[in-house]
Amino acid sequence: MTVNEDLIAGIVEKIFIELSKEDRSDQPSANGLYNTIDEAVGSAVEAQKKLITMSLEDRDKIIVSIRQVILANNEEISALAIQETKYGRYEDKIKENILCATKTPGTEDIHPEAKTGDNGLMLLEYAPVGVIGALTPITNPTGTFICNSIGMIAAGNAVVFNPHPSAKKTSARTIELIHKAIVDAGGPHGLVSSIVDPDLDSAKQLIKHPKINMLVATGGKPVVNVVLSSGKKAIGAGSGNPPALVDETAHIRKAAESIINGASINNNIFCTCEKEVIVVEEIAEALIKFMQETGRAYLLSPDEAEKITNLVVKSDGKINIDYIGKDVQVILKEIGIDLNEKYRIAIFNASKNHPLVWLEQMMPILPIVRVKDVQEAIHFGVEVEQGNRHTAIMHSTNVDNLTAFARAIQTTIFVKNGPAYAGIGLGGEGHTSFTIAGPTGEGLTSARSFTRQRRCILVEGFRII
Ligand code: NAD
Repeated sequence: MTVNEDLIAGIVEKIFIELSKEDRSDQPSANGLYNTIDEAVGSAVEAQKKLITMSLEDRDKIIVSIRQVILANNEEISALAIQETKYGRYEDKIKENILCATKTPGTEDIHPEAKTGDNGLMLLEYAPVGVIGALTPITNPTGTFICNSIGMIAAGNAVVFNPHPSAKKTSARTIELIHKAIVDAGGPHGLVSSIVDPDLDSAKQLIKHPKINMLVATGGKPVVNVVLSSGKKAIGAGSGNPPALVDETAHIRKAAESIINGASINNNIFCTCEKEVIVVEEIAEALIKFMQETGRAYLLSPDEAEKITNLVVKSDGKINIDYIGKDVQVILKEIGIDLNEKYRIAIFNASKNHPLVWLEQMMPILPIVRVKDVQEAIHFGVEVEQGNRHTAIMHSTNVDNLTAFARAIQTTIFVKNGPAYAGIGLGGEGHTSFTIAGPTGEGLTSARSFTRQRRCILVEGFRII
């Protein structure tokens, strides 16, 4: 067992001792967990009715309470997520949860707008949609819950989650904590909820439920397509395959460090992480050398790269999910390489048609493709992003090149000269979200994304000039 595993096992053991002492009541509604979707939705409808009778100040108190409970229990839910899903790194889950608890906007995001003129006053308000059904991924069982709960409640909604079945314990505990935070702050029971045993059937029930007013899917393409064809208002936050381009004008050492940091965070499971590097030939050697000099990137030989590819890409051309989110030491050990703990990622030279250039690998194995010039890099970057409209990264000091790539690729997030995670507010400006809606265009979702606009007109009045 590594130090990290010892630490996680210790924390999880402590949680279960504490949980067994808690009153985990026979009434699941006491903690936000229900046996059926129907019960959860019924309760959410009532909770939302109560929420909208409360003041905005009350909503703010609820949100502060959620932020606090997450920060106070971060070690617990981070450890639980790693232990249950076996994806990612404990220290990075901690960062993810702090980011979500502190940088997800609250009610400030739904400030009304007013316009006055010769004909009087127009008031635009961002009103709740009602009860939202949210489907969440295995990769971020805590982060997605935190961002969605804060944003959806700030906008005056209730939410029923159907979590990924392989993250159900972590999701249940996160819901329990958020639910308690809401009730402790004077909010209604059942404002956020989930079911004890989520699966594909419960997801389908949630999607079809007549009392669900809006759907939010954070996951792969299939689930996004399902909610988009549901006939309901839906937000789809789907998969990505973010390319990181490096041209000959880049600060090469800084680019190398940024890419290694960005691609290795949480073992590459964030949908925003750099998934392939496209570098102009003349600086490729220097980039790889600087990556190695970070002390955290291991350069695979062509032979090792082939073995790793055969391991992590199945014969049907799909990613072998056994290796998603694993430490690089675990993956490389399978081909007989013992890597020191300090390593975070393996890199290798890849051809344009290498499967890991095109697949969303979500593991710390990073292909590097060389191209002749920046035009070819831009063209190829657009191709490998595959129209996901998700995230792209470029390292360059040439404004024209940066602009050309940003215009060509049309992604929701475009990071210049930094790690991809700067685009979700980690060391970059702006709010965070773990529901990044490329397909439906809301971008990094926040309270306003979960509203409907309402206009109020006062004719010939209320103008004070
Ligand atoms: P997934 O699509 O397998 O599952 C996501 C959720 O949808 C789960 O709750 C799952 O139970 C449900 N689901 C899946 N197929 C369904 C169907 N046909 N009908 C109804 N419900 C269905 O995704 P995952 O493996 O949990 O997460 C990883 C994927 O999510 C990656 O592709 C990653 O890029 C993406 N992701 C996107 C964002 C974003 O903000 N855009 C954030 C995190 C993860």
